[in-house]
Amino acid sequence: MNEHRARKRFGQNFLVDPNIIRKIVQAVRPVAGETVVEIGPGLGAITAPLIDILGHLDVVEIDRDLIGRLRGRYTPEQITIHEGDALKFDFATLGESLRVVGNLPYNISTPLLFHLAAYASRVRDMTFMLQKDVVMRMVADPDTEAYGRLSVMLQYRFRMARLFDVPPGAFSPAPKVVSSIVRLVPLPEDQLGADDETLLAQVVSAAFGQRRKTLRNTLRDYLDVDDYATLGIDPGLRGERLTVGDFVMIANHVALKRR
Ligand code: SAM
Repeated sequence: MNEHRARKRFGQNFLVDPNIIRKIVQAVRPVAGETVVEIGPGLGAITAPLIDILGHLDVVEIDRDLIGRLRGRYTPEQITIHEGDALKFDFATLGESLRVVGNLPYNISTPLLFHLAAYASRVRDMTFMLQKDVVMRMVADPDTEAYGRLSVMLQYRFRMARLFDVPPGAFSPAPKVVSSIVRLVPLPEDQLGADDETLLAQVVSAAFGQRRKTLRNTLRDYLDVDDYATLGIDPGLRGERLTVGDFVMIANHVALKRR
């Protein structure tokens, strides 16, 4: 078969290191019969061992050349190929208790994580390879530079752990940055706590929209002096000092006021 030329616009860096591929599959721990979907199977580095174990795999892939190769290599019993953009894919069509895996295209990693978060109630777990700095932002603690909107919105929905790092040399072509494997496990619905998740997302976006400004400025559309007193939060703080729980408390307070 002809050699595939990696397409930059699709964030294509293909895994070629067999030890890393084995480690990723071990981290996923697939069991035959589970519903697993791989985002961006590419040339099949993780696809092949997953199909060997599972018997069947769903994949979402945007590149037609790669889709053609997958069709040539696997039978419809082994693979269901969802052609198109993972950002627009309706993961609800795959059912419940979904396991999602992928060496994600780094150019769309943040919007893809937000898209996937919307399906959290149907997901059992997700294991992804991402740029290390994105993973550090996902798992960051308050009051650190990496802590921001991505940390708060994902930590609200998921328990997350950075599992291990992957050097650029494990890929062809090699990316410029180190990557990390991260696992996301949805928290139980009754532990989430926000009365209005859209409002929570708006408050968090506002608080981190201008990082250097204090809450008094960034949340002026949501809270006044009395609200800060009721909440026991200092309006002179910056958003990065607030915990996920603080943001939920603020959003619920605003929701109550607006009722
Ligand atoms: N899984 C392969 C591996 O580990 O070698 C390929 C990983 S490569 C970093 C990213 C893959 O995602 C490519 O196959 C690329 O074509 C695909 N991709 C890029 N953008 C996509 C999108 N919006 N929706 C679905 N797949 C996409």
